[in-house]
Formats: sequence, C-alpha cells, structure tokens
Amino acid sequence: MAAINHQWLSRWFEARGISLWGIADLSVLMGESPSPPYPRGVAFSVAMDKEIMASIKAGPNRSYADEYNRVNLIIDQLGAELSRDIRAIGYNAIHLAASKRTDLEKIAGEFPHKTVATLAGLGWIGKCCQLVTRTDGPWVRLGSVFTDAPLPTGKPVTTSFCGSCSECVKACPAGAITGESWKAGVEREALLDPSKCDHFKKRRFKQFNAGHNCNICGAACPYGLKSLKP
Ligand code: SF4
Ligand code: SF4
Repeated sequence: MAAINHQWLSRWFEARGISLWGIADLSVLMGESPSPPYPRGVAFSVAMDKEIMASIKAGPNRSYADEYNRVNLIIDQLGAELSRDIRAIGYNAIHLAASKRTDLEKIAGEFPHKTVATLAGLGWIGKCCQLVTRTDGPWVRLGSVFTDAPLPTGKPVTTSFCGSCSECVKACPAGAITGESWKAGVEREALLDPSKCDHFKKRRFKQFNAGHNCNICGAACPYGLKSLKP
C-alpha cells in the first residue's frame, strides 16, 4: 500500500489552491449519535467571494444564493475527488456533502462539518454559531472527508476567540443569537435559537429556497470584514 501522510495531503490541497485544511481525530466520537463512519476527518474550507459577503448586511441577495451554490459544488467535487484518491491508495474514505439544512427546525446536517473543523484546528464556533477562521472569519464553506487512513491529527480548537465582540448578536434581526461564547461541548441551543433563525429566513427571504440561512450575522463579523482589506 502506498504511503498517505501529511505531506501527501499538503501537496493534494496545494495543487487545488486550498490553504486552510486539517485532520481531526474522530475516534472518540465513534458510536455516539451522530457517529462518524471512520476515525479520521479531513476538514477543509473554501472561501466565499468577499465582495458578495460584504453585500448581504441587510440580507441575502441573488448573488449570495448563487455564490453559496457555486462554493457548495466545489466542496462536493473536492470531497468526492479526495475520497476517491484516498481509496485508490487502499484506505476507506467517504465525503460528507456540503452542508444544507436537512432538519429545518434544528438546522442540522448529518455529521456536523463544524465538529470536524474545530477538532482539526481550522477555527472556533463564533457567537453566531458558524465556524470562524482567523483568515476569512465565517465567510467560508466547509468540506469533510472521513477515512480510516492513519493520518496524524491536528490540535483541536476548544475555546472561542470572539472575545468581547458581539457584532453578530447586534446584527441579527431575529434576536436568535444568545451572545454566549462557545467552548467545546457546548450545545448549539446555548448559542442560537434555531427556530427563530429559520423562521426569520423563511418569512423574509422565502424567494431564496437554497439551504442557506440569511447570514446577516456572518456579514457583520469583523474577522470576515478584515479579510476584505488587501
Ligand atoms: S442567519 Fe440571520 S436569523 Fe439566523 S442568526 Fe444569523 S442573522 Fe440571525
Ligand atoms: S461577529 Fe464577533 S462575536 Fe460574532 S462570530 Fe464574529 S467575532 Fe464572534
């Protein structure tokens, strides 16, 4: 069997222009609900167009809906390609489809990309309940590939770096964000009222029936806004 290691993955992502990725140890979560299929998770992020993200402070528009679908397609293609390449080396691998709301009340996908991403060290869960990266804030979409390849794992992020910021809390027109800071193990409901968030999107922006939320909170995040600067 050929070698698969950090260097192999590094080259793989570099060749595709992906700079933020990492490997999560998911073994402790196997058998839990939801359970990852394999003990390793490769997390990666694809940045959304910054001008479009900055344009949705008052709510989503057609450009944002199209961008959301475009980036999701890239995530799905990269995930499928990476799993295929790992399987060709001789290990099991399967990708998780780009997240869309499968449970409209709880706003949950299957296994959370955000869990793989925090355990892989890509960022933390912001007060807005989205993954926040240091480079692009929450202006990213996430991909995950599960595998049993014995890859070395990264350092998990277990606490929030939002600090005293509350821009997303103030920006949310639905009052859905509680303002609590995340740390590993905190339930999503401590940060966000998912039904308030979902109902607001359905009431105000029903013309966009893609899986995205309104993301006014994400557009207000200083970590995203600072990525606008050259
Ligand atoms: S997506 Fe919209 S409704 Fe939901 S928390 Fe963010 S700003 Fe509030
Ligand atoms: S706007 Fe501030 S509080 Fe909200 S996620 Fe971004 S850094 Fe955290």
